[in-house]
Amino acid sequence: MVKKLLAAMAAVAIMGGTAVAGGHGKAKTTPAEALKEVVEGNAKWVESHTKSYFKPYMNAQHPIVTMITCSDARVHPTVFFEDPVDKVFVIRNIGNQLANARGSIDYGIYHLHTPILLILGHTHCGAVKAALHDYSKETEGIKNELDHLHLPLSKVSKSGPFEKRWLEGVEKNVNYQVQEALNFYKPFIKKGQLAVVGAVYDFINAYGKGYGRIVILNINGETNPSKLKYSPVMKYLSSSMKKAVLVTK
Ligand SMILES: [Zn+2]
Repeated sequence: MVKKLLAAMAAVAIMGGTAVAGGHGKAKTTPAEALKEVVEGNAKWVESHTKSYFKPYMNAQHPIVTMITCSDARVHPTVFFEDPVDKVFVIRNIGNQLANARGSIDYGIYHLHTPILLILGHTHCGAVKAALHDYSKETEGIKNELDHLHLPLSKVSKSGPFEKRWLEGVEKNVNYQVQEALNFYKPFIKKGQLAVVGAVYDFINAYGKGYGRIVILNINGETNPSKLKYSPVMKYLSSSMKKAVLVTK
């Protein structure tokens, strides 16, 4: 029991860390140990997949989603596709920002023609947390990337419980990034070839919709859940699925 409690406290301490990646506990794993995990993990992958698995995409990729998400290790496309290989074109940086990744996103839209651009923030985002505090002592590289969060986060409430302001920051950032994407990719949206979807991956159940839920906040700039329900992009979702996935205001 005590052990469990200590483990839970340690988890909270790590998640509450100020470092950008969502925690900065001292690395317990050495480089040699980490490389062993990587190489052995890949060996298992090689053993369990034959040529026929790779054949369909040896010459080209066929993603249906371009996703810009945070680099956070707790967020991966496996939370919506058990096997995301050849399905998701992934661009990642701290705070899931377009400003740092325009070329890669353009590639997904202009060349791979994915019908969805998913901008996926997440609860307990270390980048958003850092940007809501003084990050002047971070490296130049980190500062340069966090600086782009200034605009969306400048509108976050200045008082109230931090946990609430933190989630507000995550949402404001997602909505801002969607707006940016609309500026760049409007012609594709107008032709019905693309939808920009802004969402938050919620692994702490902040929205009460289940641990690990992707909560949709924004589709093509629309943020009103009662209007989003009728978005043509949602037309194949059942009403219970819409209820499960749409943010409740
Ligand atoms: Zn993050």
